[in-house]
Amino acid sequence: MSNLPPKQVSASISHDHALFTLPHQSHLSINQKQAKTQADSKAAGIIESHKEKTMKNTNAKSTNLPLILLIASLAAVILGGVYLVFNLHTPNQNNGSASLAVETAPPEPTVPVLAPVEPTAPPEPTPAPTAVPAVDPVDFVNSIIDPNQYRTWISQLSGEESVLINGQESKIDTRYSYAMFSGQNNAKAHEYMLQTIRQFIPEEQITVEPYTYVDGMGANTWYNIIVTFPGQTHPEQQVLFTAHYDSCVVFEGNPLEYAPGANDNGTGVATLLEALRAFNQMKFGKTLKLVFFTGEENFQQGSKAYVEQHAGDQIVGVINMDMFGTDKDGDRCLELYVGGLTGSQELANLFLNTIQKHQLNLKADYLISNAYDLADQKSFWEKEIAAITVMENFLPDYSPGGCETGMDRTDHWHLPGDKLEAVNLEYAFDIGRAGIYTVLELAEAQPVTR
Ligand SMILES: [Zn+2]
Repeated sequence: MSNLPPKQVSASISHDHALFTLPHQSHLSINQKQAKTQADSKAAGIIESHKEKTMKNTNAKSTNLPLILLIASLAAVILGGVYLVFNLHTPNQNNGSASLAVETAPPEPTVPVLAPVEPTAPPEPTPAPTAVPAVDPVDFVNSIIDPNQYRTWISQLSGEESVLINGQESKIDTRYSYAMFSGQNNAKAHEYMLQTIRQFIPEEQITVEPYTYVDGMGANTWYNIIVTFPGQTHPEQQVLFTAHYDSCVVFEGNPLEYAPGANDNGTGVATLLEALRAFNQMKFGKTLKLVFFTGEENFQQGSKAYVEQHAGDQIVGVINMDMFGTDKDGDRCLELYVGGLTGSQELANLFLNTIQKHQLNLKADYLISNAYDLADQKSFWEKEIAAITVMENFLPDYSPGGCETGMDRTDHWHLPGDKLEAVNLEYAFDIGRAGIYTVLELAEAQPVTR
């Protein structure tokens, strides 16, 4: 939580401000006290440096300490003495005609010397002016999000390190939806998510939405988690930033026992959690919702339920983050599932422009007809809602302008080996940033004042 220290900002502003304005009487007494406490040499230096300013100071008469008079008298005597001894006076600089100056310049410059005593030290910080500069949204986000915290989220979500849930230590061995919502002790990811989100977000902005998934065995009740930041100017328009937090193993092992899902989709969930830590101090023109889906590994049940439950919502764009922690060939190339909707293509173009604008050094495959249709963006496409999914270079694609290699995907997809150690955190964090910055733009994030 590395905030800018507001007091320091205020102090420097009031300091600068005071230097360019006439000191008030209340400042003068403080200054005098300060001046006494400072070393004589330093004070003298400051007096000299301020002489020119203070000669114009019409408030000079407001102090009449004996000290002033003494110095003034001394100055007058010295200057007078100098005048008498050398019969010279200081010509104006850059004035070439010194002989003329001898005739015309009387010794009156001694009079303003009375002034320079008082405006020595800068004034004490006074109550800050309200003009604290607004911070650009991206700069603000950058001051909050943190690669180490990003790593910690993934580590905790994938059972690498234990967590305290309702005061009890446990490990999240699996986030398989069937395990999370049946009370298993090794699958408390839903409780963990809620507890974590509540650290940053007021309760009235958090909703937990149940949905029913009927499979061959019967009905299951699972839950999505939604965090809402109401829009300031266009609240009816909604931008969604989404990630599924369930996991599974398919090709090996038992998902009820162990499915770490560090890459799929710890990378996406951790991105949204980092975003929360910044967004909770920001305002947006449009309504911004961060949606944590479940049931994705069971044919996108969570996002399917969401679009049904929110059929009346005006969703203007969905940025879905899903599994982007593999870059074995080091080309920093990712994959966008764009599809055919014009709105989705505008989102993808904005995402790519954002990468350029912020020099994130990432490239992307841009998949339209051959986009992967087993991710949460598909639920929105089916309702003609603009949406893209951001993923690592998972599918073969040789379109010009994208990734040079056909594909560069995890070796641990839906396997017990999908652990933190296999995640390229630097690459994933930068892709997460691209997603966050894109969302800032889409939701019309406002400059931040604190
Ligand atoms: Zn996934």
